[in-house]
Amino acid sequence: EPQLSDEFQLLLTWADQERKIGVRANADNPEDAGKAFEFGAAGIGLCRTEHMFMDLKRIPIVQKMILAESYKERMEALDELLPMQQGDFEGIFEAMQGFPVTIRLLDPPLHEFLPDKEELLVEVTKLQILDPASPELKKKELLLKKVRQLDEFNPMLGHRGCRLGMVYPEIYEMQAKAIFYAAAKLADKGMEVQPEIMIPLVGHVNELKEMRQLVIDAAIKVQEETGKLFEYTIGTMIEIPRAALTADQIAEEADFFSFGTNDLTQTTFGYSRDDAEGKFLQNYIENKVLPENPFAVLDQDGVGRLVEMGVKLGRGTKPALKTGICGEHGGEKTSIDFCYKTGLDYVSCSPYRVPLARLAAAQATIRHESNKKEVYTTA
Ligand code: PEP
Ligand code: MG
Repeated sequence: EPQLSDEFQLLLTWADQERKIGVRANADNPEDAGKAFEFGAAGIGLCRTEHMFMDLKRIPIVQKMILAESYKERMEALDELLPMQQGDFEGIFEAMQGFPVTIRLLDPPLHEFLPDKEELLVEVTKLQILDPASPELKKKELLLKKVRQLDEFNPMLGHRGCRLGMVYPEIYEMQAKAIFYAAAKLADKGMEVQPEIMIPLVGHVNELKEMRQLVIDAAIKVQEETGKLFEYTIGTMIEIPRAALTADQIAEEADFFSFGTNDLTQTTFGYSRDDAEGKFLQNYIENKVLPENPFAVLDQDGVGRLVEMGVKLGRGTKPALKTGICGEHGGEKTSIDFCYKTGLDYVSCSPYRVPLARLAAAQATIRHESNKKEVYTTA
């Protein structure tokens, strides 16, 4: 368990006095949120909710929801999941002690929660030979059929992000209600909570418009039901080039933008996040086709331009728009320098990178502000 020395802590407090860009952390459980808080993160910039669904005890309920034959059946499963999600969010809000927490609604394609297609096929084939009349075979055949229906050629470009919320609004509604029940409960105990609900993979303003309304409706329902008032904001990931290109329109429906530079790198270069590093990227870097791995160090010439454009267009529509970055680049020093130059309000990175990010943010501030001073004195 790494501990920060007193000297390093002192250095970090000096860094904090200098830096003009916030540092948050990516965390999706109370332990990581607690670590982030301890390391000086001023909030959660990205709470991914998918790991909560992967929990071994919950996966049967999640599968029941996905495999449901009717709306009623799906709602039964979602009703079981809601209190669990509420508990997840209460834990994270408590750990962050009043700092903002950006919670991203479900992002991965649903087949990620189902058994692997190949393994299932092997099991079905075995049963067909050994026990063709078994009810187990019937069950597995049905499951295989569903897995095949959900299977996609390009899952990362497929039915994920807000596209899930558009087709299955009840999933996002359950999550939004769980966030608001948690907020209402803690507000009732006198605790400060700042939930920020984030919609992933938006490419068209109409997607955000619809999902935003769904979240607002959920908040109204929970406030009416509990009689408790709480503050919240709604924003979006900017991680599809079209979202950056139309950020002026998207900002109409958003209180904040968070640049998802992992997906934005994937979609701007057209490189698969899952495959590029293992296939050709090493060759590209060795042969100097690319100076660096763009998934590790932000590509300022391409991906960065979309970030700049997103910030500029977004703030053109809404000057108070809050902006941050929550891709891996948020914890990398040259990328943090770029974020400072671009005027982002905060970077968000894994808890263990928070101290480094605090230092890099101070360095960026000092570097650029003292450059400015030099220009003035020589002019
Ligand atoms: C991103 O795309 O940059 C991001 C932060 O989201 P995820 O890595 O979960 O897709
Ligand atoms: Mg993403």
